[in-house]
Amino acid sequence: MMCAAQAKGRVLLIDHAKAPGEKIRISGGGRCNFTNMHAAPENFLSQNRHFCKSALRRYSQWDFIELVAAHGIAYHEKTLGQLFCDDSAKQIIAMLRHEIERARAELRLRCAVTELRKTEQGFALVLEQDGQTSTAEARHLVVATGGKSIPKMGASGFAYDIANQFRIPLTETRAALVPLTFSDARFKPLAGTAIAARISNTGASFNEGLLFTHRGLSGPSILQISSYWREGEVIFVNLIPDIPLYEVLRDQRQAQGRRNLTTELAQHLPVRLVEFLTEPLALAGNLADQSDTRLAEICDALKAWPLTPNGSEGYRTAEVTLGGIDTDALSSKTMMSKTVPGLYFIGEALDVTGWLGGYNFQWAWSSGWAAAQALKGAL
Ligand SMILES: Cc1cc2nc3c(=O)[nH]c(=O)nc-3n(C[C@H](O)[C@H](O)[C@H](O)COP(=O)(O)OP(=O)(O)OC[C@H]3O[C@@H](n4cnc5c(N)ncnc54)[C@H](O)[C@@H]3O)c2cc1C
Repeated sequence: MMCAAQAKGRVLLIDHAKAPGEKIRISGGGRCNFTNMHAAPENFLSQNRHFCKSALRRYSQWDFIELVAAHGIAYHEKTLGQLFCDDSAKQIIAMLRHEIERARAELRLRCAVTELRKTEQGFALVLEQDGQTSTAEARHLVVATGGKSIPKMGASGFAYDIANQFRIPLTETRAALVPLTFSDARFKPLAGTAIAARISNTGASFNEGLLFTHRGLSGPSILQISSYWREGEVIFVNLIPDIPLYEVLRDQRQAQGRRNLTTELAQHLPVRLVEFLTEPLALAGNLADQSDTRLAEICDALKAWPLTPNGSEGYRTAEVTLGGIDTDALSSKTMMSKTVPGLYFIGEALDVTGWLGGYNFQWAWSSGWAAAQALKGAL
């Protein structure tokens, strides 16, 4: 939608869904976290970490914020630079539709591409809409069909099929920004409990919310680390990232030595979590019974709880697909294939994956805009 609106020429925008921008509609709890004020190349995963730089610099979060403001859409920062609509994600869709109409691009919904062929002039497509078959020809073809996450919403992996057809390489794809699971349902007694936590592994570290679920772990910090986690690897959970607990416990031992250790811990952590940890951490006795070494031991255990998930919830609930079209095969300035002139890939289909927090939409806007600049004048 961004690319079609910005390209300003004879554009046909094809989507097999009933409505455009369905992921925008459901994003951010219906309020769309449409960008992040701190968006920078460091917030993206890719085999080529430099690829995203050009597009992000040339069409930045500030450009998109300007567009949102120009459409009179009220927004606010929720946390960590994340910008959300005050009212509804539908405003972002309406904004893009308005821009598409202004650019006089044609939007064709419930339309599938059943055949695609390279011709001398460009591309020939066979389309199917409401049982009717038609053909279309185009000098340029931009593939913006996203990744594999949430197939129920129309995600199809179509971009990867097109890449395969034209022998454009792909990097390994996997579900990302996704809850992690444990085969033994060990966190069932804690399901619904949420806390602030720092989750780390060898690749990254995120200090955000953590949610225990029936099947494992979720919440922003887990979704973030999931992009950096692989099967068999351990993650470390710091349950007290913002509390100087050792000092607090020592002070409390002085002031209220007869207080039960678990009662004191329940002042800083949810009661259910303290109960859950009582046996594995052998939490017993009053504060006065605990030596400095023992308090340090408890705090260390709470700061680096090692857990090895057995998997993730997969594409069914993943917010994005990690990996995709190999960026080495594309121009970082125009998003055009280096081997198939006139063929472009933008958005989530590429091996460029943002953190949680508005980064993935920003990549969609920036890469769409970059391709549009190349198309301008060529249409
Ligand atoms: C639940 C959820 C919440 C999210 N929240 C946020 C958020 O708040 N902030 C953020 O930055 N990111 C968020 N994301 C990620 C973000 O939605 C995506 O990264 C972004 O939408 C990618 O844009 P895209 O245009 O590349 O692909 P998509 O938005 O997936 O769009 C692809 C389009 O192509 C169409 N299509 C697919 N296959 C075909 C085909 N074969 N033929 C024709 N049309 C086809 C689809 O119908 C769809 O309209 C969220 C994702 C999910 C699943």
